[in-house]
Amino acid sequence: MIYNEEFETLPREALEALQLKRLKQVVQRVYYTVGFYRRAFDQAGVQPENLKTLDDLKRFPFTGKQDLRENYPFGLFAVPMSSIVRLHASSGTTGRATVVGYTQRDIDTWSELMARCFAAAGLTKNDMIHNAYGYGLFTGGLGAHYGAERLGASVIPISGGNTKRQITILQDFGPTAICCTPSYALNLAEQGKAMGVDMRALKLRVGIFGAEPWSEEMRREIESALNLTALNIYGLSEIMGPGVSMECLEGRQGMHIAEDHFLVETINPDTGEVLPPGETGELVFTTITKEAFPLVRYRTRDISRLIPEPCRCGRTHHRMDRIMGRSDDMLIIRGVNVFPSQIEAVLVGIEGIEPHYQLIVDRIDNLDTIEVQVEVSDELFSNADEVKVLQNMERRIVKDIKDYLGISAKVKLVEPKSLQRFEGKATRVQDKRRI
Ligand code: AMP
Ligand code: ZN
Repeated sequence: MIYNEEFETLPREALEALQLKRLKQVVQRVYYTVGFYRRAFDQAGVQPENLKTLDDLKRFPFTGKQDLRENYPFGLFAVPMSSIVRLHASSGTTGRATVVGYTQRDIDTWSELMARCFAAAGLTKNDMIHNAYGYGLFTGGLGAHYGAERLGASVIPISGGNTKRQITILQDFGPTAICCTPSYALNLAEQGKAMGVDMRALKLRVGIFGAEPWSEEMRREIESALNLTALNIYGLSEIMGPGVSMECLEGRQGMHIAEDHFLVETINPDTGEVLPPGETGELVFTTITKEAFPLVRYRTRDISRLIPEPCRCGRTHHRMDRIMGRSDDMLIIRGVNVFPSQIEAVLVGIEGIEPHYQLIVDRIDNLDTIEVQVEVSDELFSNADEVKVLQNMERRIVKDIKDYLGISAKVKLVEPKSLQRFEGKATRVQDKRRI
């Protein structure tokens, strides 16, 4: 089913006319309401009036994660706080996290776009949706929740964690659909099996999985473990949250981008040059209807490719391929965004620790793990005849990482000068996950 037949099947020409009209408005609005954009446009020598065609967007400057950090927390909002009804923040990071705001109309749009996603997964008001995305500052839980309600489905706001209870509810309530990260889906399948539950016999028909990278292999694994159809959903807090793009049940290849609300470009991440549709590069989004937190040419760092060929479902919105990687070094550990530099920042603040470290990321029993190997100072090492001293230090680092980044890491202290040194760029991360 197509939730919003009119907009999701607009002929390209009409869609592009609508995009241009909306784009002109947003460029005008940010120039006159957000100091950051006025300075950025002036510096690049462009004015809102220079935007006459969609192609002219190329002349406007990019916005990056750093710009968001520098304007933390509310510097890029285009409306007064009295018009904001909801705040979210990008997962994992404390301190200078990315904070996003929504007006009531933004929430309405988001709810509709998520409802479109559920409909694209073949769901209707007769379905029951087990929503295991985390509720809170993370956009996943509430985003999916409002969309499920908009569709009229019955939503179970289970949030993340407490897996045993989730399995009991899956058995007792009999939801027909589930939303969570793909790794959590596998984890549920595994724990259910360990509890002696036949996870293939549940009523689940479809799963809507996203918020982290996954592969076709993993799709097959999930489908066979849970006996459902697994679909990919993509989004990011900065642009809205989940629901920016979604696979349709009929196509199951590439996610339709809600192009009546977001403009997408693919660029060469090194040169910033715009690539022709179909070529692999970094996705850049411009929001064309958002009120509270509009973004012009936001560099996502996510690598993918656009699929302009028509889809058999009848939607005219272009699709994007699954995310192939990131152009920066951001790790996603159990759905939490982590930059190696943040771990470094924690380590650097601890006495007795050297700034030589290595991060080993793996996926064990379908859960992401991160081990931080860090060198202790000569001094600490020579005084540490007592194992206790080292143990305390390890515990302290585990706690600091948990407090600052919200992730549980394993910490292994190693002898001074035992870790690899680098002559050029350091490669501190060993990502052993095969996804
Ligand atoms: P957040 O803003 O915390 O929700 O994180 C957004 C990031 O999660 C995106 O920029 C992507 O890197 C990643 N992400 C979200 N959905 C997917 C997906 N379906 N496949 C791969 N990565 C995803
Ligand atoms: Zn389709």
